[in-house]
Amino acid sequence: MSSSLALLATVFVSCLSSAAVLGYLARYQVAGLRRWLAAHCLFAAASGVLFITHARPPAAAMLASCLIVLAGALLMLQGCRAFVSKAPSRTGEHVALGVSVCAVFYWTWISPNVVARAALMSFLLAYARMAVGWTIWSARVRGRPQYGHWLVLGAALVGGVVYLARGILNAFFAGHALTSAAHTAPDFAFLGVSILSLPILSIGLVMLANDRLMQQVENLATFDDLTGALIRRAFMTRGEALRRTARAAHAELCVAIIDIDDFKAINDRHGHAAGDRVLADFGAEVRRRIRLGDVFGRLGGEEFAILFPHTSMAEAARIVGDMLLAVRCSSPAADGKLAYAFSAGIDECAQADSVSDALAGADAMLYRAKRAGKCRIELAQKESVRQTASDMAGSAF
Ligand code: GH3
Ligand code: MG
Ligand code: MG
Repeated sequence: MSSSLALLATVFVSCLSSAAVLGYLARYQVAGLRRWLAAHCLFAAASGVLFITHARPPAAAMLASCLIVLAGALLMLQGCRAFVSKAPSRTGEHVALGVSVCAVFYWTWISPNVVARAALMSFLLAYARMAVGWTIWSARVRGRPQYGHWLVLGAALVGGVVYLARGILNAFFAGHALTSAAHTAPDFAFLGVSILSLPILSIGLVMLANDRLMQQVENLATFDDLTGALIRRAFMTRGEALRRTARAAHAELCVAIIDIDDFKAINDRHGHAAGDRVLADFGAEVRRRIRLGDVFGRLGGEEFAILFPHTSMAEAARIVGDMLLAVRCSSPAADGKLAYAFSAGIDECAQADSVSDALAGADAMLYRAKRAGKCRIELAQKESVRQTASDMAGSAF
């Protein structure tokens, strides 16, 4: 088997392998992954066409493989943009692709010129590779594994630089315009290195897709998707760590338990979906108002908890009081949202033996708030802030 045939076979098999892995992952929702899958299928098809017609590729086969490779490169780049939540398509790229397709057609079919076509293809593929590398590398997220990003960047850089060099070689140093499909030896070496960087890039993309799935699973196991709050287990774990740190540092830490008032009545009168919207609105309101470092969790149903590090109970009560005012003041007429209220109990947490103990203290205060007429905040010990329904304007129920 000649070296060029071996190269084509390697690319064909590696593209099919990558496509198989991406195809397996495609049933999960990962932005850009289907474009990557389509790109690898196209690359496999292009190398397959050239493999079959290798001895003497007709113009039609050359043209088809060039156009398939260009389409694959564009899909690969668009997939990367979708993966990092950018708009995948750029008008300029579509225009450049249209012009390039015409040029490739001209240099393959009308006035065959292997050197000019190789230069053009190399410049286009160099751009696509560099853009892929930059797009993925610049979207690294702190706290997540970055190996896949670096692998994609490395492979994209190697491929991009070698394609660029091949483009320059063909554009300025080839000397004469070849009209056959033959490649010169250095040209073939450039082509080999750049093509072989593709499987490494593909492995990097598969890693990224896999990591994104892991991230989604971790999020599902950590956050409540209706309210954006931590689920109970995650809240308790973070809370326990915060409590230990606060205790060791003799720092303040307090916890609030919040329970939406008459939530069953909201469900009964307006339906379960309206109840869900109230929960989602409450979650959004809390997340808007808590500060960096505060920890917000859903304990279950319509009961929530917030940990406030380095915060006195009076200050925590002020923050929770602002939330209460905000949700009470939703105007049903203005934005179709239901107004609702909640009761809250606040207790100190740093000196408690566990977060569960602190929650029990806050829960006793919550019970007191409910008994005292709801829509209010009760603090453990002496501090007390009360916001009664009469302080608020209007009622939704
Ligand atoms: P109180 O003012 O004393 O807190 O009364 P309440 O009606 O808010 O409390 P109760 O415990 O009687 O009812 C809570 C209701 O919340 C019952 C349950 O069906 C409903 N609920 C729990 N989880 C969800 C949810 O995820 N969505 C919706 N829509 N309702 C939920
Ligand atoms: Mg309730
Ligand atoms: Mg409740």
